[in-house]
Amino acid sequence: RRKPMVGLQPEGDVDWSSYRGVLVVVEQRAGVAKPVSWQLLGEGRRLADKLDAPLLALVMGHQVAHLAEEAICYGADRVYLCDSPELRDYRTRPYSRVCLHVIRTFKPEIVLMGATYTGRDLAGAIATHLPTGLTADSTMLDVDEDRLLLASRPAFSEKMLATILCKQFKPQMATARAGVFEALPRDPSRTGEIITVPPQIPPEDIATEVLEFIAATDRVNLAEAEVIVAGGRGLGGPAAFAMLKELADALGGVVGASRAAVDLGWIDHRHQVGQTGTTVRPKLYFAIGISGAVQHVVGMQNAECIIAINKDPAAPIFQIAHYGIVGDLFQIVPAITEAVRAR
Ligand code: FAD
Repeated sequence: RRKPMVGLQPEGDVDWSSYRGVLVVVEQRAGVAKPVSWQLLGEGRRLADKLDAPLLALVMGHQVAHLAEEAICYGADRVYLCDSPELRDYRTRPYSRVCLHVIRTFKPEIVLMGATYTGRDLAGAIATHLPTGLTADSTMLDVDEDRLLLASRPAFSEKMLATILCKQFKPQMATARAGVFEALPRDPSRTGEIITVPPQIPPEDIATEVLEFIAATDRVNLAEAEVIVAGGRGLGGPAAFAMLKELADALGGVVGASRAAVDLGWIDHRHQVGQTGTTVRPKLYFAIGISGAVQHVVGMQNAECIIAINKDPAAPIFQIAHYGIVGDLFQIVPAITEAVRAR
């Protein structure tokens, strides 16, 4: 029994021990889940096992029942499914209403969601209605002996890692960066329970309607890319990024960059990989003319296969690369692009 702080709801003594389980909010768009959802189920499984508690998932949307099944394949024991036409497109009020209903009814002790645009919006909206804190943009999660969530996140311009403990109240809430945690291998033989949640969305919650989505053609989706061709200061100038783009296009990938290249104004910050950029987990990562500074490496070391191209055989990037090519990138990159195209 913990006494809540004065001024915060609910008042009086609350029996927090009735809160149990780790809930992951599955983010989807048009019936396709964001990979961060499965990554969080992977990490949630670890936390739930440590707490000896169930791993729960919440799937909201329209025609998304298949995602409830998928959540079980990725580790959930129980899935709350709210499927309704009003939830076809993400809108803060109806989604947060369903989320709050599930949290208040089923009382999970920890709630996790992706630190995506949607996840940040939803988590903030929910947190204002709950007597709890929210740690945003976490990169490490754990639980202590009191079953409290320890959420760590970079702080002070990423110069230090702060571990934040929300000392009282349930649920403990955090958003977590995409690409940091590992999803469990999909296991179709896993079994779990699916509980249908009625939407109960009043008309005043549907104040806005999404009429159309226009895809931005210059969108850089590093966090979900399977192939990233990243360049650094070794490229010598902005023009060489066109060469990297050719290789990326040949492989169906996107272009990434080190902070040095971004700071020099050679490429937009949206391409930056690393501690102050995006954390990535692609199948294939090319590090081209990138030395391998620790702030870059923390953002890409989880790639399944890393190929480094650098003229300096002592460059630190070779220590984490699966394949290393020592030589001049201006000779090597076009040769690889040509070979890929010839396949
Ligand atoms: P360099 O370290 O200058 O390396 C260039 C490499 O290119 C060298 O290894 C060189 O041998 C090679 N090269 C040169 N010419 C050729 C050629 N012709 N052929 C082949 N190889 C060649 N960095 C990030 O990337 N992401 C971050 O998010 C990030 N966050 C940071 C946060 C903080 C708080 C701080 C202090 C730093 C951060 N940095 C970050 C910067 C980081 O410390 C490094 O300065 C940066 O990653 C170096 O970029 P680079 O590897 O492109 O450049």
